[in-house]
Amino acid sequence: MSAAFFSATYGEARQRFLDAARRAGATVQHHVHPLKGAAGEEIGTDTALLGPADAAKLFIVSSGTHGPEGFSGSACQLALLNDELAKRAADRGIALLLIHAVNPFGFSHLKRTNEDNIDLNRNFNDFATPYPDNPVYEQIHGLLVPAQWPPSADNEEQLNAAMVRLAGQRNPGVSSGQNKHSDGLFYCGTAPAWSNRTIRSILRAQGTNRRHIAWIDVHTGLGPYGHGEKIFGRHSEETTRRAKAWWGADLIVSTVTESVSPRTVGHITGCAPEECPDAAITPTTLEYGTVPNPVVRRALRGEAWLAGHPDAPEALVREVRKSVRDAFFVDADDWKGMILGQFRSYALQTINGLTTEE
Ligand SMILES: [Zn+2]
Repeated sequence: MSAAFFSATYGEARQRFLDAARRAGATVQHHVHPLKGAAGEEIGTDTALLGPADAAKLFIVSSGTHGPEGFSGSACQLALLNDELAKRAADRGIALLLIHAVNPFGFSHLKRTNEDNIDLNRNFNDFATPYPDNPVYEQIHGLLVPAQWPPSADNEEQLNAAMVRLAGQRNPGVSSGQNKHSDGLFYCGTAPAWSNRTIRSILRAQGTNRRHIAWIDVHTGLGPYGHGEKIFGRHSEETTRRAKAWWGADLIVSTVTESVSPRTVGHITGCAPEECPDAAITPTTLEYGTVPNPVVRRALRGEAWLAGHPDAPEALVREVRKSVRDAFFVDADDWKGMILGQFRSYALQTINGLTTEE
């Protein structure tokens, strides 16, 4: 049953999301992206708002910040649209806002980054101040993105040795974000990307006049197979207390306990307090494990290499895109069941938590 909520392409996921949202009586909005998808289709970020439109409490679930990680986030959203939990939230005066495909270009083209090789979860910065240096990434960039693909045995060997050497470097770590290499991994960009501007406009339109906003941004690719880590960043004492009260002892407060992800600069949920300054914001990243880390890393290296080699042979492009999809989405029933089961529990905790707030 769980597997039925997962789609095979961005286009299919989008259509099913929109159909289910309309059936559920949601208010649907489209933010059409200027470029086309892999099959020439229109792409965009779509929103569905359910429940009382003027509710003081808003529960946001977003998917696809990292392109094909959206296969899981979209399935979570589709499951929620078909779940009595959505009605329960409405009955308790909570509006539900589903943001489908934050990075529709990457979702359709099977790229974790956006159309400009920007890691959107490093792009929500204040570009008026310099992005912090990442000396750990600097040491390894040349090895991560080699001149040829597939990489040589020598390159692989040197990279593996460097990764062992840098294993203890966490904050910043290799993946914390960097602003020096537009052809690299975890690149933050030089200005707010289309997705950044779109998400901010959605928040301004739908998040004002709320007292409380909870936000789960769904990701995949880090951690043990099928395990959903509830990651919570650096926040005020009051927000941290509230998050722990809602989400329990398995909440990973990344300033205290080591998360599967190093701390990042410019992540998406960080923009909520800027766009909705009057609301109490309780944000979290839900990160599901897929395949072992070296497999994920190799897929991302291929993706970065392709970004710098637009004339690569089509067979190689297809191979790299498939490796990215397979690194962030596991096409197995047990994995899909784990994804949706844990998401439902997290959503229920969020609804219960919001209910207890004034
Ligand atoms: Zn992600």
